[in-house]
Parts: sequence; structure tokens; C-alpha cells
Amino acid sequence: MEIKAITGTIVEIETDAIIVSHYEGAKRTEGDAAAADKALGGAITQLVKQGDIKGKLNEVNIIHSLGRLPASRVVVVGLGKKKELNTNKVRGAAAEACRYLRGKGVANIATGVLGTDAGIKTEDAVQAMTEGALLGLYTFRRYITRQENGFGEIKQLTIVGQEKRPIEKAIERGRIIAGAAIYARDMVNEPGNYMTPTRMAETARQVAKEYGLKVEVFDREKMKELGMGGLLGVSQGSQQPPKFIILSYKGRDSNDIDLALVGKGLTFDSGGISIKPAEHMEDMKGDMAGGASVMGTIMAVAQLKLKINVTALVPATENMPSGSAQKPGDVIIAMNGKTIEVINTDAEGRLILADALSYAVKNGVKAIIDVATLTGACQIALGKITIGAFTNNQPLLDKVVAASKEVGEPTWQMPMFDEYKEMIKSDIADIKNTGNRYGGAITAAKFLEEFVGETPWVHLDLTASDSDKDKGYIVKGATGAPVRTLINVVMGMAKK
Ligand code: ZN
Ligand code: ZN
Repeated sequence: MEIKAITGTIVEIETDAIIVSHYEGAKRTEGDAAAADKALGGAITQLVKQGDIKGKLNEVNIIHSLGRLPASRVVVVGLGKKKELNTNKVRGAAAEACRYLRGKGVANIATGVLGTDAGIKTEDAVQAMTEGALLGLYTFRRYITRQENGFGEIKQLTIVGQEKRPIEKAIERGRIIAGAAIYARDMVNEPGNYMTPTRMAETARQVAKEYGLKVEVFDREKMKELGMGGLLGVSQGSQQPPKFIILSYKGRDSNDIDLALVGKGLTFDSGGISIKPAEHMEDMKGDMAGGASVMGTIMAVAQLKLKINVTALVPATENMPSGSAQKPGDVIIAMNGKTIEVINTDAEGRLILADALSYAVKNGVKAIIDVATLTGACQIALGKITIGAFTNNQPLLDKVVAASKEVGEPTWQMPMFDEYKEMIKSDIADIKNTGNRYGGAITAAKFLEEFVGETPWVHLDLTASDSDKDKGYIVKGATGAPVRTLINVVMGMAKK
């Protein structure tokens, strides 16, 4: 889809549909909606009076212009209460309006800048609308060979404003950020037989080539040399060779690594010998969402040319049961030398992250954020809405939580009291990989903490990696979270 900026008046544009907005409870139309209303002989005002148009958030109404305007259709999208509007709501409303129009078979759309009359800055609104349109229209149809009737494609979105250059810049920024989230969505939506550890590594090489990043991929031999017993242990039951993927971006003149983004790259998690129940096991192709999100993030950071040095680390493997698989009761040695008793082979994410975190620490990174679809316990606690956040460094966590709030990917801090550490004490090794059924998300985080030393660190337990319905800019399947949060964090940390 082409997204372009023009200056002018929206009611004068010849296109398939124009988008205007209405606030909940407002008696009168404003701005572009008022201009459209006038051209339509008061039709919008009439529909507001009748109660057809309520202005509720994400409500969509269509009015056929029947020659009274150069545009064939006017879509009135609700933005909710004016006082409560924020950029995240603009992002969602733009998505809903675009998706509605795609359903109507519309190819070209024009819209004004939504929400500026509620005090949102033009640049922020345009960026949010761009992201909303791209994310809301996202589909993953690569493996559908039949042609579906009425499944159209929006070819062009024109954003009409007062000044062209700032709008173009905001479109470009929105395109990069949505592109990164879409990249992560694609990886997560890919079936496990396609998105193998090898394919993840190939994808990383392509990204590196395209955006000028440094890439390294360690195979089994190198992992053995480095003593990555966690990653090797988890992968030993699979026919797919494991990969340890490193993507590095250098945005300032120093060899320091300001931030390591570590992502769990479990391309399929059967649970291993502690095998999972069959129901919903297919969703476990998405157990590499953390890895996908850090790869998408570094891709955007490179395109935005941020003045910061960031490295993405992705331990990638399958977790399968076989004659060579690791067994409950086995003891493995992580890269930092700590011994781990494997109680449950399905708690494998923390084993591969143990090596990745150790690797980050060994390389002297200044801060670490890891992202992992780590525990069902975190989903039980927070639902698939809020991402669980854990830390050994409050200021770093505060930055992450604030950044997530700004982009509408909520995170919530979870406790890290030392009492939880008691629950993962082992009788025969330094630590065991699961506690009991209580506080499972926290004991997992306490486990990871064993591998970060003194380095400031935030762990995100990714509850919100997929959705079972379309809502706003979220569509069924992978969400692409928390790519936009991570990009926002890096933007905040980068030297201006
Ligand atoms: Zn598992
Ligand atoms: Zn897993």
C-alpha cells in the first residue's frame, strides 16, 4: 500500500472514500467532518441526531455521497470521548476504518489527520495512523492458494494536511516501525516446518545485508566451545540444528554495546519429554516471538539511524522429544558455569536464555532487555493483554514501562523478592529449572536473574504475542508485540 501526503481540503479529493471523524457525545461535527457534512447537505448532523452516529471509539459509519462530493463514500469513524483521546486510540481507529473499507472492496482512501482537534500533534497522529493502517490491514495469506471473493487490497492511502514535509516524515517513521512489527508477525505466523532455527538465521543474514548490520551465527561446534549447555541441552532432541544468532548495530563511534536485546527463539516447543497436551500445541510455533521481536526491533533501529549501539541475541532451537532428548533429572552446565537440574523439559526457554544472557554479560553489555514467551503462569496472572516485566534495576524498568505505555503495549511490573529464589533451589545442582505451581512467572524470572550478574536487566514475559480476534490495529494471529515498545525504549536511550 502506498501512503502519501498532500496538502489541501479533503472534501475536494476525488477518491473511493474519505475518512472523517466524530467524538462521542458531540452534538456538532468538526473540521473535516463539518466540511463533509456541509457538502452532504447536513447528512452527518442528521445521523448524529438520529443516533446512528454515536462517535464511540472505533465505530464506523458509511455515507454514500451520490455525486455531492468528488469522493464516492464518506466514512465517519468514532474517536470516543474527546478528552480521553490518545495516539494509541488514533492508531486503532485508523485501522478499523481501513479494514472496514477493505471489506467494501475499496482501493483508494483519503483521510485528514485524525485527533489534532483533541490536542494530538500532527506528526504523532500521522505516525499513529500510518502504523494503524499498515498493522490493521496486515494479513498472512502466504499458504492460501484459493482466491477469495471480496478479499480486496487497499492500494493507496492519502493523508491530507496543512504541511507536506512533516507529514511525509511521520509517514516514513510510521512505516519503519510498523514494518518492524510486521516482520515479527510474519516470523511468528510462519509454520514451524518453515520457520526453523536455520531459516531464522537466514532471515537474520538477509536483514543484516539489507540494513547494514553485522551478523554472526554460531552452530553446534561453536556453542560447545563456548559451553552453551542450556541451548545444546534443549536442542539435542531435535533433528533441526540449533543456531545462536547475533545481529549488531553500531550507531555511534564506540565499541561499547549500550543495550543487548535477547529474544527466545523456540521455533517449536512440544515440551520435549515433559510433552505438552495436544490441544493448542500448534500455537507453539509462535514460541520464537521474543526472538522475532528483537530482530524486528534492531532492523527498525538501523533504519531510524539511532545514535546507539545495540545487539540482538537470539538462541534458536526446537524442543522435541526423541531418544536423544534431554530428560527430567538431567543436569546441564550453562555458559556462565552454573549447573542446572532440569526438572521439567518444557521449561526450556529459560535454559536457552541462560546462555544468551551469560553471553551478553561476558561481552560487557551495559544493559539487557530480554523478551520471551516464557510462562503460562504469566498469562494466567495478566491475561494476554499485559506483558509481565521483571527487573534487577528499577530505573531501566521504569523506562521500559513508560515506553510501553506510550505505544499502547501495556506492561506491568511483577515482584522479584528473594523468597521466590528458595523455590528453585536444587538438591543436586546450583539451581533447578522449575519451582512448584505457584508464582511460576516469578520463579522463571528469578532463574534468569542468576545469569545476568550485576548488569541492569529487564525481563519481559511476553503474554501478548498473539490474538484470537481482529481489534483495532491488532489482527488475528501474531501481534508483533513488543516491537514498538522496544523501538521506543531504544529511541529514548539513544544520544540525540
Ligand atoms: Zn516449554
Ligand atoms: Zn517454550
